[in-house]
Amino acid sequence: MLKNILRTSIAAALCIAGSAFAQSYPTRPVVMIVPFAAGGPTDTLGRTLAAAMAKQFKQSVLVENVGGAGGNIGVMRAVKAPADGYTLLLHHIGMATSPALYRKMDYNPLTDLEYIGLVADVPMTLIAKPDFPANNLKEFIAYVKSNKAKLNLANAGLGAASHLCGLMLMSTLEADVQTIPYTGTGPAMTALLGGQVDFMCDQTTNTTGQIQSKKVKVYGVTTRTRVASLPDIPTLDEQGMKGFEVAVWHALYAPKNTPKAVLDTDVKAMQEGLKDADLKAQLAKLGTEPVAANRQTPEALRTYLKSEIDKWGPVIKKAGQYAD
Ligand code: ASP
Repeated sequence: MLKNILRTSIAAALCIAGSAFAQSYPTRPVVMIVPFAAGGPTDTLGRTLAAAMAKQFKQSVLVENVGGAGGNIGVMRAVKAPADGYTLLLHHIGMATSPALYRKMDYNPLTDLEYIGLVADVPMTLIAKPDFPANNLKEFIAYVKSNKAKLNLANAGLGAASHLCGLMLMSTLEADVQTIPYTGTGPAMTALLGGQVDFMCDQTTNTTGQIQSKKVKVYGVTTRTRVASLPDIPTLDEQGMKGFEVAVWHALYAPKNTPKAVLDTDVKAMQEGLKDADLKAQLAKLGTEPVAANRQTPEALRTYLKSEIDKWGPVIKKAGQYAD
């Protein structure tokens, strides 16, 4: 009896403490880990979302870039962070592809994190260095096929979106070129602009400005429909690469066991942040928009992540791509 009373009052006390914590949370700046280098697409999306969530929290949200291993080093930082609400993680499709790509994984995406919700699906573009000798997709295909031995393709590491898109491209063209991994496509873009690498697939959040100012060559967008901010760039699909489709989904996470009341505050801040007019305008300029409201939830993210892991596992295994 005494035990029961004690148990009930401890539970009640924890509940009250939890809700008092949530009412005051956050009382100091929140860190959002972006598992890629600064100046790249996930960084841009992260900083835009961080600014919108900061308005909701009435606290700063500071982006911390932790690049490397296709995002896995940053994920581990979030997995190991205190579950107190002061660490968030923005990651992309790599969360679903890493379990198949890496022989040794230090975390399990299905059990080691809390889910906040899906954020945005970002189209990609196929681009090349300014003096790449091909001026359209047809010339690009012919050039790559006949010069594959001397060409290289930049990406943001195994499991990055640029890696997956590059894999699909090489398998479509039946050409294998050397890949050069960076900690993010921010630095990869610098290398491309400087002519140190030949071509890459990268997200519109990183390429729109360079395409519009004609600093890179562009051969197509990877979604089935054209991207509103780049209306003159045809899709790869419409130019004959039938069925070629990659959009890079991004989602927000927190460390495992973050208190429920805190997670509820995060979910609300993310959902309200995704309605923010500045965020929407900024993303629209970069060829993307928030996902539909019914996908901006922990449940939708959990279900989607599981389905993406199931989808990519066999594809990657078949392609025989692994890292230790
Ligand atoms: N998300 C990576 C970055 O921000 C790029 C990629 O996944 O390809 O650099």
